[in-house]
Amino acid sequence: MAVLLSTKASTMEDWRDALLEVDPSLEIRLFPEAGNPAEIEAAVCWTAHDLGELRRYPNLKLLVSMGAGVDHLMRPPGPPPGVPVARLVDERLTQGMTEWVLLNVLRFHRQDPEYRAQQAARVWNELPAPDTARRRIGILGLGALGGDAARALVALGFPVMGWSRRPKQVPGVEAFHGEDGLAAMLARSDILVCLLPLTPETRGLLNADRLALLPRGAYLLNSARGGHMVAADVLAALDSGHLAGAALDVFEPEPLPPEHRLWAHPQVVLTPHAASITIPRSAAPQVVENIHRARAGLAPNNQVDLTAGY
Ligand code: NDP
Repeated sequence: MAVLLSTKASTMEDWRDALLEVDPSLEIRLFPEAGNPAEIEAAVCWTAHDLGELRRYPNLKLLVSMGAGVDHLMRPPGPPPGVPVARLVDERLTQGMTEWVLLNVLRFHRQDPEYRAQQAARVWNELPAPDTARRRIGILGLGALGGDAARALVALGFPVMGWSRRPKQVPGVEAFHGEDGLAAMLARSDILVCLLPLTPETRGLLNADRLALLPRGAYLLNSARGGHMVAADVLAALDSGHLAGAALDVFEPEPLPPEHRLWAHPQVVLTPHAASITIPRSAAPQVVENIHRARAGLAPNNQVDLTAGY
């Protein structure tokens, strides 16, 4: 029986080597060289894989996302019926995201755009001291990534709030849930960080109505998915000064087209979906463990709830 890998050509061999380092007995096939379809027992895929193609493998027991997000596996026609889906919850992936969040929270909190502009104009001018204890941070999503970013921001002394689907407790974090909770949190978020999964419920959440609830001069960080934002509404909020700045890592579509206004907006810093990139060697042990669990007839760790969509 064999494991099918499907991702960008540039990382396919890193994934194969990382999995073989954990279990040299695995037989790994690199898509599109799948061989006999009946021999494929697990598929480890990233965003470009055609989900209809996965229905060719009659003995598929496990589908694994090469990242924390699984929205790419929820597109029509969805995962093959009856095949459990697992995602990554990985320490290094989490750390990478927390670093990106801290970098950008501190960028805006410490007035870095203003100081860079002053430097360019050779202006020696001290701005008012940033007050960490009064800069309220709201985090959309309190899962593996949002929860870790929240803890790191609490450790720095920021007042941190978080929003989840179900009621949740994270030490030091004021927790909100549901639509009322969202409005209450947004109204007090000087910096809003989006770390939600993209599902039918969360698509388009960052629209004009929700952005209008933020205090004037708030900052937006989105490193979840481009589909969470209505880009035209984010641009309008930036243009009007309602949003003072945005750090964006994700877009719809990706790559962001060269002519898109977000590229050159003076209040926007952007990265090309690089906030946190999976390191195959770090993720391989959990993928191999899930392959072994599937062979033993066990449900995978970090199994995706297909009804909730994450
Ligand atoms: P988790 O599943 O661990 O956490 C998701 C959080 O969002 C949970 O707190 C969940 O609530 C909450 N949530 C889900 N749906 C809703 C809803 N309808 N209303 C309110 N809250 C909701 O995911 P991760 O933290 O591991 O990852 C989050 C996302 O980050 C991924 O799905 C992916 O899209 C993105 N990502 C981006 C990367 C990048 O480089 N840009 C890298 C890695 C991930 P509850 O706790 O109640 O379940």
